[in-house]
Amino acid sequence: MYEHDVLVVGGGGAGLRAAIAAHEEGADVAIVSKIHPVRSHTGAAEGGINAALQEDDSWEDHAYDTMKGSDYLADAPAVETFAQTSPEEVIQLEHWGMPFSRNEDGTVMQRPFGGLSYPRTTYAGAETGHHLLHTLYEQVVKRGIDVYQEWFVTRLAVTDEEDPEDRSAHGFVAIDVKSGEVAGFKARNGVILATGGAGQAYDHTTNAVSLTGDGISMAYRAGVPIEDMEMIQFHPTTLPSTGVLITEGVRGEGGRLFNSEGERFMFEYGYATNDGELASRDVVSRAELTEVNEGRGINDEYVYLDMRHLGEERIMDRLENIVHLAEDFEGVNALEEPMPVKPGQHYMMGGIETNEHGQTCIDGLYAAGETACVSLHGANRLGGNALPDLFVFGANAGRHAAGVDLGDPMIPVGPDDDAERADVDWPVEPGAVEPVVEEPAADGGVTDPAAVVETAVEAEKARIDELLSREDGVEHMEIRKKVQQAMTEWVNVFREEEGIKKALKEIREAREMYSDVYVTDKSRTFNTDLQHTLETESVLDVAESIAMGALARTEFRGAHWRKEHQERKDDEWIKHTMLSWNDGEPEMWYRPVLLEGEDTEWEPKERSY
Ligand SMILES: Cc1cc2nc3c(=O)[nH]c(=O)nc-3n(C[C@H](O)[C@H](O)[C@H](O)COP(=O)(O)OP(=O)(O)OC[C@H]3O[C@@H](n4cnc5c(N)ncnc54)[C@H](O)[C@@H]3O)c2cc1C
Repeated sequence: MYEHDVLVVGGGGAGLRAAIAAHEEGADVAIVSKIHPVRSHTGAAEGGINAALQEDDSWEDHAYDTMKGSDYLADAPAVETFAQTSPEEVIQLEHWGMPFSRNEDGTVMQRPFGGLSYPRTTYAGAETGHHLLHTLYEQVVKRGIDVYQEWFVTRLAVTDEEDPEDRSAHGFVAIDVKSGEVAGFKARNGVILATGGAGQAYDHTTNAVSLTGDGISMAYRAGVPIEDMEMIQFHPTTLPSTGVLITEGVRGEGGRLFNSEGERFMFEYGYATNDGELASRDVVSRAELTEVNEGRGINDEYVYLDMRHLGEERIMDRLENIVHLAEDFEGVNALEEPMPVKPGQHYMMGGIETNEHGQTCIDGLYAAGETACVSLHGANRLGGNALPDLFVFGANAGRHAAGVDLGDPMIPVGPDDDAERADVDWPVEPGAVEPVVEEPAADGGVTDPAAVVETAVEAEKARIDELLSREDGVEHMEIRKKVQQAMTEWVNVFREEEGIKKALKEIREAREMYSDVYVTDKSRTFNTDLQHTLETESVLDVAESIAMGALARTEFRGAHWRKEHQERKDDEWIKHTMLSWNDGEPEMWYRPVLLEGEDTEWEPKERSY
C-alpha cells in the first residue's frame, strides 16, 4: 500500500495547483494520474485566463459578468472568492515563469472574450493551456512532489456509515496501467479529486477520450451529491469532423460568423445585436443551430468562422495554432478561407458538490477543477473562467487538505433531509442494475483507515478478475456509443421532453447491457480495453445524471434550453438540481442558489448581449 498525507487524483491544472498548495503547507503530497500530467486536457486550452488585473477593471465587474453569464445559477460566495483571488493567482503564475503574451511595454496582454464587459483574458498565444501545464508541472518537479503517472484510480476507499456526512475518505484503489497491478493508496489527511470533465458522454465533443467523468462517478457512488449536471456547455466553434476546438480567441480578436447567404447572422437576425459574435457561448451556439435548422447553414451542418481580415501578421502572432488545427483536421487554409464550425459539447458546469474550500460532505474528500461544482459557472460558463477556477479552488482544496484553517465556509454541502424533493415521472427506473460482482458488504463497518483501503482493494480485485474471466458478452464500445449517440441526439443544445425521455430509455438499456460487458484483451500490461470498460461505467453515471437533470428542470436557463419551457422561471427555479446515490437509487432534491455573498448581493436580471 502507498501512503501520503494528501493524495491528488489527476494531474491537470486543478490537480497540479492543489498539489503545489498542499506541498507549500508542508504536506507530503502525491499526484496519481491516469495519463502523464502534461498530457492532461488542460493542455488543450487555447484561449486564456480571466483576471481583473488593470486599474480600470475590478473584481466586482468580473463577478458581475460571471453572475450574469451564469444566468443567476451561480452561488455568490463562490463568485466572490473567484473574482477576488484570480488576479493574485495569475500574477503567481507569471512569477513561476508562465510565458504570457505581452504588450510592447512588457505588461501582460489581455483580450476580449465572450460575455466579458472588459478585455480581461490573459493568454499565451493560442497555446495557453500547454504553457500553463508546463509551468505548473515544473513547480511540481522542483518541489519533488511524487507523481504516479499512468495509474488509473477506479474506486474510493470510504467508510460506510449510513449518513454520507458521517463517512470519511481514507484513500482509493488504482491500477498501474503499465503492469496491471491493483494497489491501495492511503491518504493520512485527504484525497482531492481533480479528474476533469466528462465530454465522453457525447459523441461530438472538444474533450479528450480520457475525459470520462471518473471522479464524478466515484464521488457520487460514495455518497457525495452531484450538482446541476444538466448544465452542459456547448462551444459554438468546433470543427465539424472531429470536435477539435477553435478558440473563442478568434472571435475575441475580431473573427466573424457567416451563414450560407454570406450574412453576419449574429447581427442580421438579432441574436445579439450589441455583442454579436462575442455574446456568451450558449447564445452563439443556439444562433448557429437555428441558422442551420432554418436552411441557412452550409451542408445542413455548419456555419463559417472567418478571420482572414485580421491579416496574416496578427493571426500568426496570436492565433498560429488555429491555422494548424484548421489545416490538419479540416484541410482548410484559414489564412485564405473561412473555417467550418458548429457547436460541440465542451464543458461541465455541474459536478461534485463542494464548498469554497473544495470540501465535499465526506470528511477528507475534496474536489476541484472541472469535476467539481462549487458552484461558480451556474448555467453558463464564460470563456476564460475555467482556468482561474482551477487555481483558485484547486489551491484552496490543497491548503485545506494540508490542514490550513480557511475559516467557516459559506456554501453548505451534503444531502439535506429537509430539502424539497424532485417530483419527476422518470420514463424508466434510473440507477444501478446488476453489479459485475456482489459487493463484499461495502466496508462492513470497518473504520480503521488501512483496513478501509484494504477492503476496497479486495472488492476491486474481485471485480476486475470477474471482468477478465468472462469469455463473451458485450464490448464496452457498443455501450459507450449507444449512450453518446443518445445524448448528442436528445440532450444537446436543443432539448425536448420526449427526446430526453428517449435518451433515458437508451441509457437504461445501455446499463443493462453493461451487466454483460466483457473485456477481449486478457493481458495485464497496458490493457486499455479493461480501462475503457471501467470508464464506460462512469460515462453511464454521468449521462444518466445529465438526462435526469435535463428532464427535471422545466425552464430555459443559460445552456439549458427546453422546447416546452421557453422562459426562465425565477420564482420556481433559482435552485440547484442535486442528485444523491442512495444504495444504487438516484434521489433528486434541490438546494437554493445563494445570491448573497459577503460583499455582493444579486438581483436576477434579463440577460442581453
Ligand atoms: C479544447 C479546450 C479548450 C479550452 N480552452 C479554455 C480556455 O482557453 N480558457 C479556459 O478558462 N478554459 C478552457 N477550457 C476549459 C478548461 O481547459 C478545463 O475546464 C480545465 O483545463 C480542466 O482542468 P482539470 O484540471 O479539471 O482537468 P484536466 O486537465 O482534464 O485533467 C484531468 C486529470 O485527471 C486525470 N484523471 C481522470 N480520471 C482519472 C482516474 N480515474 N484516475 C487517475 N487520473 C484520472 C487525468 O489523467 C488528468 O490528469 C478548455 C477546454 C477544452 C476541452
